[in-house]
Amino acid sequence: MLNITVRSTVHHELTPISRRENATLVLLARNSDLNGVMASMKSLESHFNHKYLYPWVFLNDEEFSNEFKGRVMLETNAPVHFGLIPKEHWTQPSWIDEGKAEESRKRLKEQNIIYGDSSSYRNMCRFNSGYFFHHPLLQPFKYYWRVEPDVKYFCDISYDPFQYMIQNNQTYGFTITLYETPETVTTLWDSVKEFIIRYPQYIANDNAMEFLSGDGGKTYNMCHFWSNFEIADMDFWRSEAYQTFFEFLDTKGGFYYERWGDAPIHSIAAALFLPKQRLHFFQDIGYQHAVYQHCPSSDESMGNTCSCHRWNTIDYRKQSCLPRYKAMLSSHTAVDPLS
Ligand code: GDP
Ligand code: MN
Repeated sequence: MLNITVRSTVHHELTPISRRENATLVLLARNSDLNGVMASMKSLESHFNHKYLYPWVFLNDEEFSNEFKGRVMLETNAPVHFGLIPKEHWTQPSWIDEGKAEESRKRLKEQNIIYGDSSSYRNMCRFNSGYFFHHPLLQPFKYYWRVEPDVKYFCDISYDPFQYMIQNNQTYGFTITLYETPETVTTLWDSVKEFIIRYPQYIANDNAMEFLSGDGGKTYNMCHFWSNFEIADMDFWRSEAYQTFFEFLDTKGGFYYERWGDAPIHSIAAALFLPKQRLHFFQDIGYQHAVYQHCPSSDESMGNTCSCHRWNTIDYRKQSCLPRYKAMLSSHTAVDPLS
């Protein structure tokens, strides 16, 4: 007799949740990131997605190899999509002065700034700032969860964060907030101030300016949400306010003449164009990327079990902007930017 039942028993214990929100997991990667991608997937699938089976969307500026696709598909039972990024969303625009861009790469390299001399890193930051949410594979979706290679989730996530976002009217969710390297955004705030004066209609009344600036908007304190983790609403990035903001910043050339990151750009937009109550700190999601991690305290973990030590968390160390975020939330003075 043919033994054809073996594989069909494998998935039996899974009882995927049939009620899913309009959301996807999204991961930008190179073929060479495969091992890190698999590690991140194992972590998110085991702590969350094996129950929910949200689809995965993988994006790359080159074609994914068959090996990449094959190995990745083995890590999940959810639908998996592989997309190629259009060249025009991943290329230094022709109007950028390459001499000036090269100077910036040299300068930042001399200053030992991470990725200072990298053109591809700059393309990546510009893509994540202005284009990922326009990719055809992401068009059907409203919410996304950004995942990167080699990240780790420490806690079982016993509810659906997308549903939480919807039910609580949240737009942008984060786990870690840090100070940006000032050398990468030397003139970014000047451009932001120019934008605010030109387009005051986009600034929310109850904005989070206090999180970005300690002096009512005169200077930027470098605080931003670490964008390697984001659970957010792509319709915000697709909005007129954000689109206008991105186009405005793009024409300044700072992605190439400096090394503007998508994290400060997303964060500044979310903090200024949204009422501050729409920014959500996912305190219950234990998360690690590179040398920083957020580990929930027993109060924060909301009963979920976490495989990290609660004192090993960035939240109240000097590198974290969380105290500023919390102070901003509890402050009752609405900041009128630049007034
Ligand atoms: P870091 O988190 O700032 O240290 O930068 P990463 O190297 O992790 O890059 C951020 C994200 O962009 C990760 O998901 C990377 O896989 C991805 N990424 C960075 N550079 C490239 C690239 O040249 N091509 C592709 N396809 N993805 C990239
Ligand atoms: Mn990374």
